[in-house]
Amino acid sequence: AAVVHWFKNDLRLKDNRALKMAYDLAQANNAPLICLYILSPQDLTAHLASPARVDFVLRNLKVLKIDLEKLDIPLYMETQEKRRTVPNRILELCEQWGVNHLFANIEYEVDELRREAKLVRLLADKGIVFETAHDSCVVTPGALQSQQGKQYAVFSPWYRSWMNYLHQHEQNLTVLEAPGANSSSARSQFADLFDSQVPDAPANKRLGKEEKQRFSKMYPEGESEAMRRLDRFLKTKANDYNKVRSMVDNEYTSVLSPYLAAGVLSARTAVSIAKDANGGYLDGKNAGLASWISEVAWRDFYKHVLVHWPFICTKSMNKCFKPEFTNVEWEYDSEIFTRWTEGQTGVPLVDAAMRQLKHDAWMHNRNRMVVSSFLSKDLMIDWRRGERHFMENLVDGDFASNHGGWGFGSSTGVDPQPYFRIFNPLLQSEKSDPNGEYIRKWVPELRDIKDRKAIHDPYNRGAAAVAQKAGYPRAIVEHAASRARALQRYKEGIAR
Ligand code: FAD
Repeated sequence: AAVVHWFKNDLRLKDNRALKMAYDLAQANNAPLICLYILSPQDLTAHLASPARVDFVLRNLKVLKIDLEKLDIPLYMETQEKRRTVPNRILELCEQWGVNHLFANIEYEVDELRREAKLVRLLADKGIVFETAHDSCVVTPGALQSQQGKQYAVFSPWYRSWMNYLHQHEQNLTVLEAPGANSSSARSQFADLFDSQVPDAPANKRLGKEEKQRFSKMYPEGESEAMRRLDRFLKTKANDYNKVRSMVDNEYTSVLSPYLAAGVLSARTAVSIAKDANGGYLDGKNAGLASWISEVAWRDFYKHVLVHWPFICTKSMNKCFKPEFTNVEWEYDSEIFTRWTEGQTGVPLVDAAMRQLKHDAWMHNRNRMVVSSFLSKDLMIDWRRGERHFMENLVDGDFASNHGGWGFGSSTGVDPQPYFRIFNPLLQSEKSDPNGEYIRKWVPELRDIKDRKAIHDPYNRGAAAVAQKAGYPRAIVEHAASRARALQRYKEGIAR
């Protein structure tokens, strides 16, 4: 009987646990291995996938198909409009292909778990085994607990525990080989499946021609590209990562997030190779490499949080982690929100970052913190609108990391910065873009302001005429006043 691996957010051959299990079983039984991918437009809409993210996934499927074909393994792809039909369709395909074993890596979001639970029941009724693997985290959710047997809700102690765990379970960092050629008769038995084509993006998720070319250049598809990026980064920029990771005036970080989010690169592989680059150390030794490993750990942290507190993504989604912030009074002025999304707030760093998001479908971590804090505290706009906007635009959109990041920025989340610590966008701007190069790149209206102080606050630092002439707006809020309002609103919200 044939064996199937169902691809989801694990679009790679190397270091893919469920795929390796499927391959090993197929080889042991001299059985054909079939790979499957199902695109559900309704699911993409419900989960706010950005067109850039969808395009990236589809481009990666193309590479996967070619790579699998070389191993005599077909990748069958199709579109199922409604997401609730996916489990039934998988059952149908399994029966049609004579499959008795389906493998997949677990996705931890609530909708996905419900879908999988349904599939387990459907397949079990027909005697088909559905086997899943924990693959997307370096340390499996559930493996870490505090002394009191509780899940950590604060990053630092969680991170110490994560590190201890990896010291004690080095096998967790073993990078699995990609499958070899399938020795069975899949080629002749399932010849038609080799003709399967990558589905088209649904109309509401389609990129224009120019954007398509731009994103293909910025984020080329394929796991070999991901490995090249990782290798290049570890050999060069990673060494100073601890010193420059908060600077936005140049590209100092890995920009591996699109690859990690779609599973084109495994987080285990990333950490394992970084450890090798650091002479076998996960922490200590080279401070840059150690610091990068700890950033990748944040990704695990937020997935662990999601697994332990799934209410953050149930039904209406976007629930705040800390219930005491449920009653904070938010603003819903669409015009103000649009000025934020369009990079027209009159705060140069915020505008530069929002315009970069629009153009690159990506933003630096520091800027994500600055703009999320600005939206939720300076503008008092409901942070959930920002969370949605990010998902709808990021090429690396990932529910757990995005929700976690917004929780941090708006101080409503797990391990947030306390609500009374409010980013001052001007100070952030001076620190992370000291010469104003980043602002000049993204806000061309301010390009002619040569003064490195004035560029951060043109109307108050002697460059008003230039800004005005170029049509750049005055700041939408005055930080001291908006800060006071935020403190008041948060305090009242908690007291309610
Ligand atoms: P690097 O600095 O090179 O780090 C390497 C990898 O570590 C990243 O690719 C990412 O997978 C992980 N990582 C680093 N920092 C974090 C972090 N703070 N939280 C979680 N993972 C981290 N990341 C996403 O992948 N998807 C999102 O949707 C997302 N939304 C965010 C929203 C907000 C408001 C904030 C503050 C952060 C968000 N992040 C998100 C985290 C982080 O900003 C990005 O992962 C990072 O900027 C990606 O750039 P990089 O690959 O160059 O990162």
